[in-house]
Amino acid sequence: MTKRVCNFYAGPATLPLPALKKAKEELLDFNGTGMSIMEISHRSKEYDAIHQESKDLVRKLMNIPDEYKILWLQGGASTQFWMVPLNLRQDDKPFEYVNTGVWSKKAIKEAGFYGKVNVVASSEDDNFSYIPKKIEFSKNISFAHITGNNTIYGTEYHDWPNTYGDVPLVCDMSSNIMDKKIDVKRFGVIYAGAQKNIGPAGVTLLIVREDLLNRVNEEIPAMQKWITHAKKDSLFNTAPTWAIYMCKLSLDYLKSIGGISAIEKINKDKAKLLYDMIDNSNGFYKGHAKPDSRSLMNVTFNLPNEELEQKCVKEALDEGLVGLKGHRSVGGMRASIYNAMSIDGVKKLVDFLKQFQEKNQ
Ligand code: PMP
Repeated sequence: MTKRVCNFYAGPATLPLPALKKAKEELLDFNGTGMSIMEISHRSKEYDAIHQESKDLVRKLMNIPDEYKILWLQGGASTQFWMVPLNLRQDDKPFEYVNTGVWSKKAIKEAGFYGKVNVVASSEDDNFSYIPKKIEFSKNISFAHITGNNTIYGTEYHDWPNTYGDVPLVCDMSSNIMDKKIDVKRFGVIYAGAQKNIGPAGVTLLIVREDLLNRVNEEIPAMQKWITHAKKDSLFNTAPTWAIYMCKLSLDYLKSIGGISAIEKINKDKAKLLYDMIDNSNGFYKGHAKPDSRSLMNVTFNLPNEELEQKCVKEALDEGLVGLKGHRSVGGMRASIYNAMSIDGVKKLVDFLKQFQEKNQ
């Protein structure tokens, strides 16, 4: 039998087993073609069916209104850090960002190449352990930007800040896309590297309100403009066909279990198991995120000292609990419990951590 572990990596991350099995089944002969989907032209009718279905799944699962375009792009979320300001800047209007961690900072730095950036709120004063409560964006700005979930620190927005009038709110949802129901109409643009919650590395999902596509200066290279990709249905150049196919299989699975409302409930149950364990550990495990900012996707915590943290990560590994070492900026441990992580996987982790505490406190 194939060995499968409980994979808590922050990304690339665990994928639904049925999606992997289906990919394995179809690897050598996709749909009777005698070829792998990887070997088929991105202009073929066989691939086109996958392409369209993948977008339909995103639209239906997230209940995305018709006036939004769904694009599959390359270059990771990091490419959107500069594509966002390049495509949305208007005259001399500044951009406003909320700084909630490493990924926000990187987005802010890249935006600085395209215009004036104002940081209107930050949680840097407490090592990014919370989402700022008071976020007020100005009126006369090109766009407002937030990082929906902070993968490294384990904090997540549970309410969205408002913007004035038609100022678009842009959100990096790389590590929490589809973790809970959202009202897409609150946003002008949503982007997410696929490799955490919806698929493998190599493709980035961009959801953009159509009217915003016209802001860009036409006189720049084609690949840099969202509108190029929108006009050609994300097939302007060779699409990352395998990555999109894997996203489609993983979203098929999400749909089969009841979609985002079903996974939201499961995600809340999973997160509660871990946070309750932390809260009931008499301080042996200390959560990094403030309770009202806790992420459903990345649970970050420390042990009494670094030695114990290393021991815990190692012993967990021996039990088939993989990828639990925290990011260097927080240290400690991080359990990434994305949509594809089962409740049983989380229960196994909780049992292990309780036993570890008993033996080591
Ligand atoms: N934003 C967030 C919230 C992330 O977690 C990451 C990757 N860990 C990125 C952006 C960067 O994504 P990519 O590697 O796809 O460029």
